Amino acid sequence: MAGIYLHIPYCRSKCHYCDFYSTSNMSSIEKLVVSEKNELVLRKQYIGNEIVETIYFGGGTPSVLAAIQVKDILEVIYANFNVVPDCEITLEANPEDLAEPYLSELRLAGINRLSIGIQSFNNEMLSYLGRGHDNSTLVNKIKAVRNAGIENVSIDLIYGIPGLSLENYLTSLNEAMQLGIQHISAYSLIIEKNTFFYKLYKTNRLKEAPDDVVVAQFNATIDTLAQYGFSHYEVSSFALEGFMSRHNSSYWEGKKYLGVGPSAHSFDSISRQWNVSSIKNYILNMENGKDYFEIEILSEADRYNEYLLVGLRTAKGISANYIAEQFNEKINNYFARELQKLNSKDFISVKDDRVTLTRKGIFVSDMIIRSLFFN
Ligand code: SF4
Repeated sequence: MAGIYLHIPYCRSKCHYCDFYSTSNMSSIEKLVVSEKNELVLRKQYIGNEIVETIYFGGGTPSVLAAIQVKDILEVIYANFNVVPDCEITLEANPEDLAEPYLSELRLAGINRLSIGIQSFNNEMLSYLGRGHDNSTLVNKIKAVRNAGIENVSIDLIYGIPGLSLENYLTSLNEAMQLGIQHISAYSLIIEKNTFFYKLYKTNRLKEAPDDVVVAQFNATIDTLAQYGFSHYEVSSFALEGFMSRHNSSYWEGKKYLGVGPSAHSFDSISRQWNVSSIKNYILNMENGKDYFEIEILSEADRYNEYLLVGLRTAKGISANYIAEQFNEKINNYFARELQKLNSKDFISVKDDRVTLTRKGIFVSDMIIRSLFFN
């Protein structure tokens, strides 16, 4: 089983917290779609005979694509790959783009899951984050999505925003529940370099939310969503039964995926590949038959690090037996030593063969995973 990811690096405007590469100049969209369709055909051998079970349009903002462009790309995929009949086909969307007839056209094109960048239901926070929508727009857009027959809906929420109270955050979570959302990706706000927020931060016009507030909001996410029957299946991901993201789960299970478009990554357990990030160079290189990606063959240490990176973020965790079987003695000794330290600090739970993060550990997952990396 394998997945296909299509990168659409355009955004109508830049959110104050976002450091992803994207452009608001849409003049190259048509050419990009042609290049991505060509790349799909050129790289069909990468997937080989494996069955494609998930397709994901990510960005940027893929909902800047016209429905006919989404349909054209999906037709190329169906013509060149073995796609499973109940393939999960997700499109990341900005709420502003979700209107009729676009929604119905997307559904007819094959989109059966939307991942919507909501971030908050609180008007003050939405304006602070630089989002172009308000609460009433969001509620109406989610109703329109349902009316169009797209039942599988994920939203992103951000906690730890300066000035966001626990009470206001809980109101956002509860509002999402009242709207029947089945999947939530909840992220703590990080002040990244090259963002508007970073400029404010460096000039003392923005103070990060205190750690205890951020931890309280993270704990409230876990507890509130558990009350509504959500499982916390990955550090930032919560889902009702049957609604876990199959695409993201395939990354965490180390399955093969083909990434198409500027800066898209591909992985086949032996190597990692990444495309050039500039839209202009990607299109030019595709048009002129030039190289458009770099490739790295994974060493044994890389494969071990990759296994930790993707596995430890999930509720299933990693298998100590797998590490013992797959990796050399040096790596195993290092793993056992570091694991013991983390276990004694209550960051990690070890039950039989499975190693998982404790709730305390989930909050500092990046630090834990880095400390287990073998260099
Ligand atoms: S958060 Fe999403 S919509 Fe906002 S700039 Fe980043 S990629 Fe674009």
